Amino acid sequence: MNDFFAPKPKENEAWDAAIIGSGPAGLTAAIYLTRGAASTVLFAGDQWGGQLMLTTQVDNYPGFPEGILGPDLMDKMRSQAARFGTEIIEQNATSLEKKDKIFIIKAGEKSFSSKSVIVTTGAKTRWLGIPGEDRLRGKGVSSCAPCDAPFFKDKKVAVIGGGDSAMEEALVLTKYASKVFIIHRRNEFRASQAMQEKVFSNKKINVIWNSEVIEFLGEDKLREAKIKNNETKKIEQMGIEGAFVAIGHDPASEIFKGILELDEKGYVKKFEKDGFKTATSQKGIFVAGDVHDYHYRQAVTAAGFGCMAAMDTLNYLDKDTPSW
Ligand SMILES: Cc1cc2nc3c(=O)[nH]c(=O)nc-3n(C[C@H](O)[C@H](O)[C@H](O)COP(=O)(O)OP(=O)(O)OC[C@H]3O[C@@H](n4cnc5c(N)ncnc54)[C@H](O)[C@@H]3O)c2cc1C
Repeated sequence: MNDFFAPKPKENEAWDAAIIGSGPAGLTAAIYLTRGAASTVLFAGDQWGGQLMLTTQVDNYPGFPEGILGPDLMDKMRSQAARFGTEIIEQNATSLEKKDKIFIIKAGEKSFSSKSVIVTTGAKTRWLGIPGEDRLRGKGVSSCAPCDAPFFKDKKVAVIGGGDSAMEEALVLTKYASKVFIIHRRNEFRASQAMQEKVFSNKKINVIWNSEVIEFLGEDKLREAKIKNNETKKIEQMGIEGAFVAIGHDPASEIFKGILELDEKGYVKKFEKDGFKTATSQKGIFVAGDVHDYHYRQAVTAAGFGCMAAMDTLNYLDKDTPSW
């Protein structure tokens, strides 16, 4: 096959596009940009590949009828991005600033200049940080019911959390599991009233109030959770085969503070401007994936947003865009 390679900038010229982040959003954006003949540098970060590197079987990414391991899927996306000439820097971008119309990105000792930027730094699941959690992740401990619920058909599972996400995870799980416990450290949920009503009217769901999971137990897979009642201080062991941690996510947006508008939780705000759907508050910077999307949080949606951001960027580079 005669592969097309995107050009590299000449010395002292800026890259057409810089992508910060190497999850499904960033790598998809790189594929579209390089195939669109834009010279593209991608900062992969010191933990390249993003959240799917932390999981085992991915069964809901189209094109893999037998499923695929998360790291294998990311390897394939990376090879595809490299195939068309994406320059991959194995470091975190540590700062981003604008000088005239050009963006300056620092990574390690080096500075890179680029005419446009796509922010795809993703988010990190907030885990409980308790014994057994790391070891049993992907072996019963999860953070994504839409991804993993079908693995728990007719099994007893627990959701840990009390917000809307926890309620949603529990409701998704009721379609498969025989019983769903919601374990919450307070005596009331902070989820919306509507979500709470759905949860309370579902006969498969039991709520365990004022309680915290303090350890996950099991050798090769999750078998039990150790639960402490915060009022009585009593500790009990409960047999469960799935545990879904739903206590929040933290967007990786620290380096964009001061240059991009972020919402109160730190997610990069996305705007529709001049026909672009993935614009940020800064002209020439686009955003894709979990760093702005706290709602869908799926690999395929992140990849979809990555494609949109790349197409917006190609248009931006083509036209020198009107003001925003
Ligand atoms: C355990 C687990 C299992 C999951 N299973 C599934 C599943 O089965 N199916 C599914 O569709 N979804 C699943 N998801 C969700 C899915 O992984 C995410 O929605 C998706 O990865 C988001 O892609 P992203 O590109 O936006 O960000 P991420 O995947 O979060 O990637 C962002 C990348 O950017 C890097 N980065 C951050 N800051 C910088 C910086 N300053 N410079 C350079 N790089 C930086 C990060 O290190 C990371 O590599 C799962 C998530 C988890 C945690």
